[in-house]
Amino acid sequence: MKIILNAGREKSLLRRHPWVFASAIRSADENLASGSTVDLLSSEGHFLARASYSPTSQIRARVWTFSDEVIDKEFFRKKIRAAIQKRSTLNVQRFSNSYRLIHGESDGLPGFVVDRYKDILVLQSTTAGSEFWKETIADILVEETGIQNIYERSDVDVRELEGLKPVTGILRGTITNPQLQITEHDLLFLVNVATGHKTGFYLDQRANRHRVGEFARDLDVLNCFCYTGGFSIHSLANGAKSVLSVDSSADALSLLQENIALNHLLADRHTSLEGDVFQLLRKFRDENRSFDMIILDPPKFAPTAAHAEKASRAYKDINLLAFKLLRHGGMLVTFSCSGGIDAALFQMIVASAALDAGVDATIIEHLSQGSDHPVSLHFPEGTYLKGLICVKG
Ligand code: SAH
Repeated sequence: MKIILNAGREKSLLRRHPWVFASAIRSADENLASGSTVDLLSSEGHFLARASYSPTSQIRARVWTFSDEVIDKEFFRKKIRAAIQKRSTLNVQRFSNSYRLIHGESDGLPGFVVDRYKDILVLQSTTAGSEFWKETIADILVEETGIQNIYERSDVDVRELEGLKPVTGILRGTITNPQLQITEHDLLFLVNVATGHKTGFYLDQRANRHRVGEFARDLDVLNCFCYTGGFSIHSLANGAKSVLSVDSSADALSLLQENIALNHLLADRHTSLEGDVFQLLRKFRDENRSFDMIILDPPKFAPTAAHAEKASRAYKDINLLAFKLLRHGGMLVTFSCSGGIDAALFQMIVASAALDAGVDATIIEHLSQGSDHPVSLHFPEGTYLKGLICVKG
């Protein structure tokens, strides 16, 4: 089966970018099944790559390989072994028993995310191609990791673009309790793989949570968009004077409370507030509250570049308010996980927030996603998490 590209549209494949858009296609064989494997040929008929076919998505094909090799179980075994090897090279197990094992395109496996939570793997399949090979991948994961339990969390909106319905549940093994305790830098966190956000936890912030902990001693910390308290627990464990955690999710805050107890931390240094960060920051400003450190880790405001303008206003709003609430010499730890906003734009938004707040600030650190969420040099879209630590004044 094959797809022939329009003249000139082979360029991105020659740079090893793994996506082919519908507009790049001159012709496709008839009756190509959703998720099936196709050869991508240049307009002159030269082999470029072998890919999965997504009939309904604007991203019509995603590359499995740029070589002329068979796509079968052994092909995927090789990819998965390489992904496992990468994690053992970076020795992420030193810091946590939970980490990302497969990061989609950046591990050569478009459409697949696999996170390991101790003795459960959580698999997320987002494309027609990953759906086609899901059972094979599940078998290989059990064979190669020795982990018997796989939970599926294929419940993300982007599946709709691929004509796929949400799927969740046990894919392999027996999982009697979807809630488990994981370790991260010697701290404990409860994770529910069935009901938690994403696959259960924001594993991508591990190193940044640790970094924040290193700064937190004796500080009054405001943790906005705290989820189950990642940054709060690290701050408390490292001697923060007080931590105020804000989130709109009551479920997340209740796990946060359990996480405090689990780590034997003194609850009297901590306060949880259920509410909307946008409103609460305004309220704090009106009450003349102030903090030594403010963390802003909001959800994705701009999934794609089309949402960038509205999202920029939202980022600017919360960063501006945070700059006002910070004491002189205080630290703003601010993130964006929006694919539609790149690092340069994010920095400009934070700069313009400081300007409008009437404060001077310096960047002391640039942050990103953890090394278990690697980025292929040929797939810059893989960099999605951007963070800055700024000092006021
Ligand atoms: N920092 C966290 C992850 C944050 S994810 C960690 O390290 O684990 C973003 C969080 O923002 C989610 O928990 C979500 O419930 C919360 N949220 C989304 N919109 C919100 C809003 N307007 N106000 C408060 N919380 C919000």
